[in-house]
Amino acid sequence: MSKSRRLEKSAKNLTKMMGMYYTYNKIQAKKGKFVVWIAIVVPVELLKGFDDLIIAVPENHSAMCAAKKLGPTLAETAESKGFSMDLCSYARIDMGSMFGDGENSPIGGLPKPDLLISNTNNCSLLVKWFDVYHREYDIPHFILDIPFCYEEQKEKDLEYIVRQYRELIDFIEDLSGKEFSIEKVKEAIKYSNQAMKHWKRFLGYAAHHPSGISAFDSFVHMAPYLSSHRGTPLIVEHFKMLADETQALMEEGEYPVKNEKYRLLWDNIAPWHQLRPMSSKLAKIDANIIYATYTSCMGTVEGEIERYSLDPNKPLRSLARIQNSTVCPYGLELRFNAMSEMIEWFDIDGVVFTSNFSCKPYSVMQLDLMRKIQESYPKVPCVMINVDHADVRKYNEEKVFLKIETLIEEIESIREKSIES
Ligand code: SF4
Repeated sequence: MSKSRRLEKSAKNLTKMMGMYYTYNKIQAKKGKFVVWIAIVVPVELLKGFDDLIIAVPENHSAMCAAKKLGPTLAETAESKGFSMDLCSYARIDMGSMFGDGENSPIGGLPKPDLLISNTNNCSLLVKWFDVYHREYDIPHFILDIPFCYEEQKEKDLEYIVRQYRELIDFIEDLSGKEFSIEKVKEAIKYSNQAMKHWKRFLGYAAHHPSGISAFDSFVHMAPYLSSHRGTPLIVEHFKMLADETQALMEEGEYPVKNEKYRLLWDNIAPWHQLRPMSSKLAKIDANIIYATYTSCMGTVEGEIERYSLDPNKPLRSLARIQNSTVCPYGLELRFNAMSEMIEWFDIDGVVFTSNFSCKPYSVMQLDLMRKIQESYPKVPCVMINVDHADVRKYNEEKVFLKIETLIEEIESIREKSIES
């Protein structure tokens, strides 16, 4: 099936939504509205408690620049200022945009912020990255200290996060002169719950044979959730459209890889500069990366596949609970349990571990995780490839595909052996 036939309506809506997000932010910032730059895991629903707060997400901006092949150009601007090429490419790209005053960013860069909010649970680099903006713009940087996640969140950790949310609310009230409304947060939570219900329905179509989705679809469509659309009716509408359209295509017999022979699982951030080439090349060999740890974690806690339902009656506690949603802060056991569940639930034939030059926290324990998976699932071969999620200069297509082809051969060999026995 041609790519354009896939999820046409949702793709159009996605373009519209993201265009709205960037344009609206720019226009409102020009009118003098209060602009906040947040790290990707900071709960947008909390900020919805303030009217007219403009929310921008540098990581999302970097991913978009990388998908539009502008990663190296922007990263080089940051590198020319002395930032090492070994630093995360998200940081280098967005800093490049900031240093170049939006030049080479497809949207002319993000509107200048009044406040920065980051957190510690994904990586310490992110805090230092936001500190660069703190120095350059001479504006406050609020850091949420989120405990790492080796098991189910402890009550003391949850309370610790809630206390910081309260401090953050007071801080924004003082700084912006805006009044906080908990009722608006409750409303945003209701929308997020509905949105995640549809998102999970969409991801769930990966369980079908052939899979109704490709992980590449999920990479692309996660964007509005990581923007100010989160906690609004628009995101509910979008994820519902996405799930409904996927279902309708499946009913018509349309699948990302119709003759799917190999169902693969992806572990790490999306290769933003390779979405189309990688999915097309895989489809030619009847392989589909049907699911990804990266997009599965949205709306969940501690690697579960099922969505975590936020409680609008306990808004701050609920939002503190979902600080344990992303993969980076997980310990090995948690990652192993999550991946095992995915392998079984989605009938995975092989796992593509992506050692990411940029994201050390996601990559650091992948070799141990791969060993554990191989021991527990000897019939599910694994491969380790090297990718940088946003810097194409650190990607070698030939080497990557050579390894993926080896994985496919291993899957075939396991199948042959099981037929013989
Ligand atoms: S290193 Fe990983 S977690 Fe940290 S900012 Fe980069 S992509 Fe995000």
